[in-house]
Amino acid sequence: MSDQFDVVVIGGGPAGYPAAIRAAQNGLSVACIDGWKNVDGTYAFGGTCLNAGCIPSKALLESSELLHRAHVEFAEHGISTGTVTMDVAKMQARKTGIVKASTQGILGLFKAAKVTALQGRGRLLPGKRVEFTAADGTVRVLQAGSVILASGSTPTPLKSAPFDCERIVDSWGALEFTSVPQRLGVIGAGVIGLELGSVWRRLGAAVTVLEAMDAFLPMADEAVAKEAQKQFKKQGLDIRLGAKVSAAVVGSTGVAVTYDDAKGSHTVEFDRVVVAIGRRPYTDGLLADGTGIQLDARGFIEVDDECRTGVEGVYAVGDCVRGPMLAHKGKEEGVMVADLIAGHYGHVNYATIPSVIYTAPEMAWVGTTEQQVKASGRAYKVGSFPFLASGRARAMEAAQGFAKVIAAVDDDTILGVHIIGPMAGELIAEAVLAMEYSATTEDLQRTIHAHPTLSEALHEAALAADKRAIDYPNR
Ligand code: FAD
Ligand code: NAD
Repeated sequence: MSDQFDVVVIGGGPAGYPAAIRAAQNGLSVACIDGWKNVDGTYAFGGTCLNAGCIPSKALLESSELLHRAHVEFAEHGISTGTVTMDVAKMQARKTGIVKASTQGILGLFKAAKVTALQGRGRLLPGKRVEFTAADGTVRVLQAGSVILASGSTPTPLKSAPFDCERIVDSWGALEFTSVPQRLGVIGAGVIGLELGSVWRRLGAAVTVLEAMDAFLPMADEAVAKEAQKQFKKQGLDIRLGAKVSAAVVGSTGVAVTYDDAKGSHTVEFDRVVVAIGRRPYTDGLLADGTGIQLDARGFIEVDDECRTGVEGVYAVGDCVRGPMLAHKGKEEGVMVADLIAGHYGHVNYATIPSVIYTAPEMAWVGTTEQQVKASGRAYKVGSFPFLASGRARAMEAAQGFAKVIAAVDDDTILGVHIIGPMAGELIAEAVLAMEYSATTEDLQRTIHAHPTLSEALHEAALAADKRAIDYPNR
């Protein structure tokens, strides 16, 4: 096998593997190195997303949501089922099957695209050379025309509650529980805390979420965050804000977590604790001396808007560089860079990256929040439509939440769309496309939406921005 490639990608997660495939589609010779190792010692492409992130978490969210619906919704439909229980081992086996099929699928995609898949560790050397250490310890040095660094991120540890991988775990550990903890503590009310807290709550755990900040979901539009907090409270998620964890002591019966808030110091005992306080870029062992690659103060690889590192022919994409840590953001960066290397047009519109939180109700948004628009001083208008007024949402027994459109008064441009409610993560795609095409609310208003669908909520919210909603009183 040649040790010379047009492109060598280090990292086979959702940023790296699409970069490798697009580079190959562009007629370049490509190798993709990935070192992800599962607990059983096997290597798997797909990175955090496929092995321990997006995919397994969504599998468990789906299973636990079905159980929850069987418990609380079926009776409304007139369905009686007797006692419905969850076989946790079977649920986990289903999840593992989905993960395996997805990660092996990447090998299939690589084969079809003629990407050379290399499982082991990669290290960038000066001169666009990459040292590859295979699983069996053999070392090769590859010469690349261009190198794409896509090494991802890892969970941020908390000094006062260090991982012991048994009682105190990270998000990966929380995806692998083999039984439902009776008392689950979650440190961090961010995306992971809420998604995985929801999973185990629906399966029967008493879940307490300790969040250091006083505000709940500060990155979301305030109206969405407020509605979410209300719904999570109803579901029994005990979210405590302004809670600063100072100690976590592991004993024979559980973990005693001490935290301080405005009311003083408290100690709560949990069977297990998940620490989900954010993730940090992972670059351990990635860069040999003398490569010239710069890291910023937080450890991210420094890049420009087109993911160039400043070292000729070396790019970096995904979680290891600035910007939101999202699989779709990494994917678009990987594809952009692969196109730029081939001399094609490449671009990522960072202003229209959608965010989705896959709880129930789901939350999704794109663009600016109302608070950000207000702070900018630009005159704006807002249209909202509650799912309570959506025939489809009511038929689905999912009439919580709303869709909200924020637009500029001067030229009607859509500035942000915020949805909390059923299938919000799917509905947001229309808003992303609208913003990508610089659409106005009038464009959305004049677009025909099928009836009865959830998408009508976005249509009505756009109409409401000009006080023309039909299915809900305009305010
Ligand atoms: P990674 O997926 O981390 O992949 C990097 C890969 O590079 C890994 O396989 C790593 O082993 C490998 N690697 C690193 N260094 C080397 C080296 N020197 N040599 C060889 N290989 C190396 N995002 C979403 O958009 N939607 C979601 O629903 C979502 N859910 C999530 C749920 C959880 C529980 C978690 C933890 C994350 C979730 N994310 C989600 C975030 C998403 O997983 C990340 O944004 C995404 O995986 C980043 O992709 P990446 O390719 O940059 O890095
Ligand atoms: P996050 O940044 O979403 O949330 C971390 C939370 O922990 C924040 O609310 C923060 O204030 C809080 N926190 C920080 N230090 C704390 C402390 N000492 N005590 C208590 N609370 C503390 O991070 P995350 O939930 O760990 O997720 C990591 C990344 O993974 C996110 O950036 C997200 O983009 C990505 N992710 C995305 C999805 C999705 O797209 N649906 C799902 C899961 C993860």
